[in-house]
Amino acid sequence: MPELTSSELRRFNRQIILPEFGIEAQRRLKAGSVLLVGLGGLGSPASLYLAAAGVGRIGMVDADVVEETNLQRQIVHGQAVLGRLKNESAQARMLDLNPNVQIERHDVRFGIDNALALISRYDVIIDGSDNFPTRYLVNDACVKLGKPDVYGGVLRFDGQLSVFDARTGPCYRCLFPEPPPQEFAPNCAEAGVLGVLPGVIGSLQATEAIKLLTGIGSPMIGRMLVYDGLDLSFNTVHIAKDPDCPVCSHAPQDITLRETVMVCAAPAGRSISSGALQARLQAQDDLVIVDVRNPAEWLPGRIPGAIGWPRPELERALHEPGATPLPKDRDIVLVCQSGMRSHSVIRSMVAAGYDPLRLYNLELGMAAWQGDVQLV
Ligand SMILES: [Zn+2]
Repeated sequence: MPELTSSELRRFNRQIILPEFGIEAQRRLKAGSVLLVGLGGLGSPASLYLAAAGVGRIGMVDADVVEETNLQRQIVHGQAVLGRLKNESAQARMLDLNPNVQIERHDVRFGIDNALALISRYDVIIDGSDNFPTRYLVNDACVKLGKPDVYGGVLRFDGQLSVFDARTGPCYRCLFPEPPPQEFAPNCAEAGVLGVLPGVIGSLQATEAIKLLTGIGSPMIGRMLVYDGLDLSFNTVHIAKDPDCPVCSHAPQDITLRETVMVCAAPAGRSISSGALQARLQAQDDLVIVDVRNPAEWLPGRIPGAIGWPRPELERALHEPGATPLPKDRDIVLVCQSGMRSHSVIRSMVAAGYDPLRLYNLELGMAAWQGDVQLV
């Protein structure tokens, strides 16, 4: 491992004096490398803190230029660089914070043709992307190459964070095997985002990258942090590896990268907000609530009265000829962590003959649920 110069010992003093960190961790950071996929809202704080902390080599993949609408949250850039490449702007800012960091600019779009070559060059990957095709590609390439994928997601006032490392834990596809239908996948440009939200989540991504490089603390492998900015609450849910995961259940050499195509689903079912569901529960409306998450995800709690029925088992029950696993003459609310898996169950139920007008999807799932939970 590289030695630290006297100037580095001085510069990084405030973290070197931490007993859990020390000179060894600082040397590991100097020897380490991180790839930032995207220099937007999440990549902004992540790039700044990683450069400031003394990570030896930082790669950045981004082909976009800085636009005025970016500056509300993409604080690594500024007014003076409007119209310039984001990579160029971030590079200047990072070198100003720490002139010794080795920066590698990849002024290209992250895609199938370059994903493996880029990811293979770095120890830790930070997914700062804002779209599903890139997120799945980062995940699949990281699984294939055995690299940790520090995932962050932000929308409106809500954020998520996890570390997907398929060598010891689940990957992104264990949770979400396929992207949701286009209309269930709003992005920040359509749905909005509070500017400071990616600041919170991107800073946590930098924290996880530093922990992975230095070996301090316990990384968020197998756990998902769910942040609600309006409540100012942080919740952690445990996430399990799916033995049938379409990607990480395979040997690395059998994993083939593929393009993720976003499709529009035929309208199926209705959606219900967390507040509207609480109101119906308080009014003691006749409702069946079915929680289709994995049993491990129920541990932090379920909506009172919810039946736990993991999606794969419920889908199997629906496919049995003549079976009616759930009543057809009552309103049914389907619940999962984010509203994606439950929506796909609703589509299967409609295909199995259930009335779409009696099926409700809890919008944004348990991540948005603000009422009581019962522990199971
Ligand atoms: Zn997986």
